[in-house]
Amino acid sequence: MADIASGLLAAKPEVASLTIAGFSLKSILATFFLATFLFERYISVRQIRMTRIKKRPAILNGIVDDDEKFLKTQDYSYDKLVFGFVTSTLEMFKSMVFFHFDLLKATWDLSAHLLEAYGPASLAGNQLAISLILQNILFLSETLLELPQSLYYNFVIEERYGFNKQTLRLFATDQVKNLFISMIIQTAIILPIIYLIGWGGERFYLWVYFFLLAFQLVFLNIYPTLIQPLFNKYEPLPEGPLRDTIYKLAKKISFPLTAIYTVDGSKRSGHANAYFYGFFNNKRIVIYDTLIKSLELPEVEAVMAHELGHWYHSHNLKNMAIQQVSTFSMMYAFSFFVFNRSLYSSFGFHVPADQELPYLVGLTLFLQCWSALNLAMKLLMNMVSRSFEFQADAFACGLGYGKVLRSGLLKMQLENMSQMLPDSLYSLYNYTHPPMLERISAIDKLLQKKD
Ligand SMILES: [Zn+2]
Repeated sequence: MADIASGLLAAKPEVASLTIAGFSLKSILATFFLATFLFERYISVRQIRMTRIKKRPAILNGIVDDDEKFLKTQDYSYDKLVFGFVTSTLEMFKSMVFFHFDLLKATWDLSAHLLEAYGPASLAGNQLAISLILQNILFLSETLLELPQSLYYNFVIEERYGFNKQTLRLFATDQVKNLFISMIIQTAIILPIIYLIGWGGERFYLWVYFFLLAFQLVFLNIYPTLIQPLFNKYEPLPEGPLRDTIYKLAKKISFPLTAIYTVDGSKRSGHANAYFYGFFNNKRIVIYDTLIKSLELPEVEAVMAHELGHWYHSHNLKNMAIQQVSTFSMMYAFSFFVFNRSLYSSFGFHVPADQELPYLVGLTLFLQCWSALNLAMKLLMNMVSRSFEFQADAFACGLGYGKVLRSGLLKMQLENMSQMLPDSLYSLYNYTHPPMLERISAIDKLLQKKD
């Protein structure tokens, strides 16, 4: 008995690592990661196989009859998928090294050391200051590691198919701007969250959730007006038939349109797009110059009708509601995680009971777990998004744009070289938009009903 007591007293005053059924949390997390990784690579191999079909199948007859275009699109999809396969494998490898060698702990220690050596004495050991340094070190190293991939993607793959329109100089200035803006935004999010966790105690998740909601609402306003103009030129659409038809269309369905802008998307890429933004009675439409160039006037109008269909069916609001539920449940789940000392010790952080836990570390680890567990959420969100696209198409068809929408969408898909024959499992899991053939056949059905 005495032996046991002395043995207990002699034991290190550390918190034990969290284990579930004898497995450490770290190995459980690693297994989850690996399982997600293998599943995603499996479906991407299925998708890659579809891009190796060299003979244009009969289902494309009357939709895409150009053999050369079909082959080029197949090659483009193949190159992108192989690139994705390689980069995600590297990413997985990086995560494993990061966890295995407890690099988060090492970076935290480095941040604390840097603060002590170079920061004001009054801040030594301050959790907020250390977290800020840690976050920036992680972000900078991540950005540097991703730089070669990003260069390869834009200047080799996109270049090969004529999509890359940016110069190296523009790419470099974009990177620098992105870096600064991201650092500012991350600081503005992370510092209040860490402060609120320490301040709010057990119910911190409520405060953090409200803070995130407020941040999101502010961000939705400043993003198009302050941030996007740093990268592109937004100009009011000049007077003319296009402007007139869009205003007429907006009036017809009582869309509170206040401005239409064109954006010089062609500065960077040949891909085309259009969208609207703004709260309540102040909606603005943005059209890419690439879209105006590649489509006929009635087709642009039909694409606009589709966009307004999203507004008519309140898709943005619905998306936002889903996002709120997701953010809230995430923060609620995080509240079971953040104060658990044994969890931190699983990753090398042995924090004595009288010391505050490094909350940013808890958050970083938690977000990793959450994303590994979030397959179902991704699947669900993509299914919802695809049903919204069908609904918006049906809205445009209802306004009489069926035929021109069909030809406009086809042109856009061909210009963007979207994969024509996706694998069913891959598209179910990854696609936010329905595959082209499904979309065209849904429009055709609506057209037939009308005839
Ligand atoms: Zn849409």
